[in-house]
Amino acid sequence: MTIPSEDHAADAERIAATWRRRGARITPRRRELLDVLLAARGHLTALDVAELLHDDGSGVDVSTVHRSLTDLHRIGLVYRVAVKGPRGQVSHAYRLVGPTEYTAFCTGCQEVVPLPTPVALRAARSLARASGFELSTEAPAFSGSCPACRDGQGPTG
Ligand SMILES: [Zn+2]
Repeated sequence: MTIPSEDHAADAERIAATWRRRGARITPRRRELLDVLLAARGHLTALDVAELLHDDGSGVDVSTVHRSLTDLHRIGLVYRVAVKGPRGQVSHAYRLVGPTEYTAFCTGCQEVVPLPTPVALRAARSLARASGFELSTEAPAFSGSCPACRDGQGPTG
């Protein structure tokens, strides 16, 4: 199990390393994007992230940010929620999966779903005892159907 870290730099490096292993080129801009997500205290939209990146005076393209966030979601490094804007338009907001959080991937709606940590930890330990296989938290550990998809409602967002 990974020890939770208060050190953003170490966390950013850990996430960047996983992202790189999944085929991404870690540009300075992507590294800054990870810093913004690590400093966030909730979900951020691509526009939020772009504005925060823009604070240092450099220009940033929202669609580039959006592509990076979509990529992070695809490989299970961020959670995504649907948020409604003032005119009813739906966009997505993202937050990083924590270093000790186990997640599952829903094959129905393609969402990364948080698993209750104590339950997931017990399952991971039992699995390790029974098979010697150690579950990692750096990607969704299981795939299946989320409650909404299992009820036949599909994604709710
Ligand atoms: Zn689902």
